[in-house]
Amino acid sequence: MTTDDLLARHRAVLPSWMPLYYDEPIELVAGQGRRVTDAQGRTYLDFFGGVLTNSIGYDIPEIRAAVERQLRTGIVHTSTLYLIRQQVELAEKVARLSGIPDARVFFTNSGTEANEAALLMATNHRRSQQILAVRNSYHGRSYATIGVTGNRGWSASPLNPLQVAWLHSGERLRGLLARLPEADRIDAAVEDLREVLATQTSGDVACLIAEPIQGVGGFVHGPDGLLAGWRKVLDEHGILLISDEVQTGWGRTGTHFWGYQAHGVTPDMITFAKGIGNGFALAGVVGRAAVVESVPAISFSTFGGNPLSAAAGNAVLDYLLDNDLQANADRVGMILHEGLRAEVGGLPGVAEVRGKGLMLGVEFVHPGTIDPDPKRAAQVFEACRAGGLLVGKGGLYGNVVRMGPPLTLTEEEAREGLAILVTAIRSGGTAPTVAA
Ligand code: PMP
Repeated sequence: MTTDDLLARHRAVLPSWMPLYYDEPIELVAGQGRRVTDAQGRTYLDFFGGVLTNSIGYDIPEIRAAVERQLRTGIVHTSTLYLIRQQVELAEKVARLSGIPDARVFFTNSGTEANEAALLMATNHRRSQQILAVRNSYHGRSYATIGVTGNRGWSASPLNPLQVAWLHSGERLRGLLARLPEADRIDAAVEDLREVLATQTSGDVACLIAEPIQGVGGFVHGPDGLLAGWRKVLDEHGILLISDEVQTGWGRTGTHFWGYQAHGVTPDMITFAKGIGNGFALAGVVGRAAVVESVPAISFSTFGGNPLSAAAGNAVLDYLLDNDLQANADRVGMILHEGLRAEVGGLPGVAEVRGKGLMLGVEFVHPGTIDPDPKRAAQVFEACRAGGLLVGKGGLYGNVVRMGPPLTLTEEEAREGLAILVTAIRSGGTAPTVAA
């Protein structure tokens, strides 16, 4: 079956609202390190890792061995109604790393379910279904998580089971905080929160859910300390803080293990997914015991924290920590940040090079304006592919090219990818050479 046949069959049987990347979608058939190979035998350097899903890389012997060991027992999974050694061990590690005192961990299979569970806990604990969320956010595809997602393009239902009030994001180009002097941005955000609380809620709000760096939103982030500014107001009302670390967790941002740590706060709950599984379906919520325990009846996940995923999760976490991949994200990320700023930062139409660690975004606008230029972003995205580099797209207006490579990215690979990116951006998005 050719890739074209596969695409036709995909389109005939899968829903039309499931997006596929690229004008000519890619079928990946093999991976090694930071490189993936498609069905035509073309190899790409992977600067996206799925969507930051592949935290360590492809075909990592330590992770393969841990998963194979579990498979050899004959048990892929039975039920979370039985004791699972790998699940308990992973929960202990996650609880310890979370920074949350007296933490409890509930495993799920996706980030969506993790946020759904966190919202369930927060609303039960606070006996309120009023929620604060941030514009330009993405938290999942379930009914409640769509409800707290501040991007209509990703809101698969116009209905909302929750009562949500929206805060301005840390956007630097548009919106309330944009173009304010850095020193005034946190105060403005805090004022916004006070005003939203007073005008759009009864004050009796369950939680604020926020991404330390907005992923789908195009790697938008406010100043460090923003969450602390918000937290002070939340504490006056007993409102809980949920940090959605689905993209920012596990050392991705380089300077910190979790995105929230750059802000000098400790959230009441952290939701996590993607990077902990390095491709395996593993996610969850870790939170203060009093909040997690407020769920009033049995809540159960057949697959959440199953032995195979948990074995992978333990191996991933050990690998991340043993090899200090957070430090690598910081060091190699810096090469990319500095390289991109120096090489394309000042070009017409490049509005911003931003992000932290191995989470980098380049936002494109029409030169001389702040009007989003999604066409240019799409051209750069396709040109990178033609040059042998996989990157992502994103942003409220689809005008941001996103990079989130595996945290094992080497300096040489960073420079190789940087060169392809720079050529793609400088060429105005037209394709450079086609990689073999
Ligand atoms: N939260 C954030 C910040 C995300 O980026 C995503 C996925 N892109 C989710 C939640 C949902 O995760 P999943 O796709 O695993 O349900």
